[in-house]
Amino acid sequence: MNQLLIVFLTLSLAGCYGESSNTDQATAEGGAESSENTDTSEEADTSDGSDISEETDASEETDPLEETDPSEEPDPAEETDVSEETDPAEETDPATDVIDDESKLLWPIDCIPGESCSIGHADIDSDGLAFNCESPGYTGHEGTDISLYSWDQMDAGVDVYAAQSGRVLWAFDHPGAYDRCDANSTEEDCLPPNSNYYPDLDDGYAICTDAGDYCPADSGGDSCFWCFVGKNVVVIEHYNGDVFATRYDHFKSGSILVAAGDYVQRGEKIGEVGSAGSSTGPHLHFEVWGDDYYSLAEPFVGECGPNRTESLWGISVEPWAR
Ligand SMILES: [Zn+2]
Repeated sequence: MNQLLIVFLTLSLAGCYGESSNTDQATAEGGAESSENTDTSEEADTSDGSDISEETDASEETDPLEETDPSEEPDPAEETDVSEETDPAEETDPATDVIDDESKLLWPIDCIPGESCSIGHADIDSDGLAFNCESPGYTGHEGTDISLYSWDQMDAGVDVYAAQSGRVLWAFDHPGAYDRCDANSTEEDCLPPNSNYYPDLDDGYAICTDAGDYCPADSGGDSCFWCFVGKNVVVIEHYNGDVFATRYDHFKSGSILVAAGDYVQRGEKIGEVGSAGSSTGPHLHFEVWGDDYYSLAEPFVGECGPNRTESLWGISVEPWAR
């Protein structure tokens, strides 16, 4: 029994109480490491950029025959038309100034907080405060819940995107599963399993992976497994950014477009928002694993932490801005 390492990956969502007891063990296992993000050695390599031997080849660049052809270049009608370029309304539009660092995370859902959805923030350090010192989705919340305002939105279809390119580690879709769970649901798919968690369990809202190379080295072999309570779940491992993996839960049943092993691009649609599993309404539970399996990370930067240094979002403050 000592060798049995059970790692429950549980998730809950805003307003979904009664799940937090399952998260204690997982939090302890996951640890709170936050030392990634500091390796900038690759970015500082400028040896390629300093090779200017090609650019100064004079024979190609200053061909006088082309440069003095008057018929093409100085069209006065176009050059003096300044009405478009100095449109003040466009120049001051902050949306045009948004810079998206593609090495970082993309907003993973087609909705804008305050307009078409709301956010229940994470509290992965369990101090009762979200990164911005406001109330989190609930104390100890392990991810960011992005909730739709209505079932109608879910029925119409709200896309979920890969926040970063990578390879799909797990994709669990239950096409027949009840995916309109709420706080009062009695459907089996919305409730805890009828038995204890074990590898390959697929019962109630829980699904558990079998053993694999994601087990810690000291786990005693194949007795390690992971469980998710989002029923319809995707986890993507990333290779080209600061983040090890991202997790997405509660998809609409039958909407998931990817399978384990698939490679996905940043911004690629992977499914649609639902309310499957342990869920009280249509929403996406978006969870960031910073540098290893289930090492939870807070993507937003703020003075109440735990991320006080650098946003993990490509658009740092309001990642949904475009
Ligand atoms: Zn959540």
